[in-house]
Formats: sequence, structure tokens, C-alpha cells
Amino acid sequence: MPDTITNRHGDEIRVGQHWLDPATRDDRRTLRVDGFADAGSLGTVAVCTVVAVYSRSELTVTHPDRVVQINIDRLRVKPSARGYQLATGTFTVRVADRRHSPVSHAIIRTITLDAICPLCSGPRGVPTNHNFHDDGQWLSCDTWENPCGHFDMYVNVLAEAERAQAAKVSEG
Ligand SMILES: [Zn+2]
Repeated sequence: MPDTITNRHGDEIRVGQHWLDPATRDDRRTLRVDGFADAGSLGTVAVCTVVAVYSRSELTVTHPDRVVQINIDRLRVKPSARGYQLATGTFTVRVADRRHSPVSHAIIRTITLDAICPLCSGPRGVPTNHNFHDDGQWLSCDTWENPCGHFDMYVNVLAEAERAQAAKVSEG
């Protein structure tokens, strides 16, 4: 089986991608695609490791490392509220970059991250708009609170986005 498969919706499913259960689930799993298999009459399945489970009621993230199989046609890149959601490279936010100014002025950058926490692979929080005053002007960025409790510092997410960008360039 190849490393990349196109499902019947035209979506590209790749080994190494992360997918999330629908946000409405009480136990929301993060699934990593490890390969593909032919499941006979059930079609082609993605063989995935459950790398994290975020429990909304317990507020915990656990790492069961179970293997599950999901029909590739159920993995849709265009998200629907009740379907699986692609986590890899789908979390786009505006953040304040103060790294290049000697006096800490903010430049707003739009970056794309994975929709999962880099520390525990649990889902990242929902971004909301935040307006702030910076040296005489009003700026808008996004803030989000990860349900796992790990805090995303802007310097860290900027570095994460740059690493992802560099990986994409070397791939293509
Ligand atoms: Zn986390």
C-alpha cells in the first residue's frame, strides 16, 4: 500500500496525518495514520494509532496507544460538525510576533499549526478574537485556551509554524 491514498471524495489521506474525533464527542481521540489496509468488502481502511484521548468530563488526556481502523471515505478534509477532522496543518490563527522588535512592538502574523497540542496531542482550543493596544494602534489577534491545560506561548507557536513550513518546502 502507498503512503498516500485518495478517497472517493478526492481527499488525500497520508501516513503521518493526525485526525480528531468530532468536537461533540465526550472522549475526543487524536488518531495518527500509520498505514492503509484492504478490508475486503469494507473497502480500504486507514490503520491509525490512538495517540491521545481528551475526556471532556474528566478534563484529562490519556494515551492508550490502541490501533483502530477507519474507512478512508469517512476521513473528509472539508470538516463537517459530526465527522472526523483533519488536525494536521488546519489550525489557522493570527498571533502577535514581538521577536524582531527591540522594543517589543507586535507584528500580527497569520500562521497555520496542527489542531493538536504539541505536548500531549490533545485537541487545541477554539480561537477567539482579541483586540489590544500596542504603541498607539489597535491590533487584533487570536487567543485560545487548550482544554488539556498546556499553554501555547506565541514564541513557541511561531517556531512551530516555521518548522512546519520548512518541512513542507523540503517535501515538495
Ligand atoms: Zn496538551
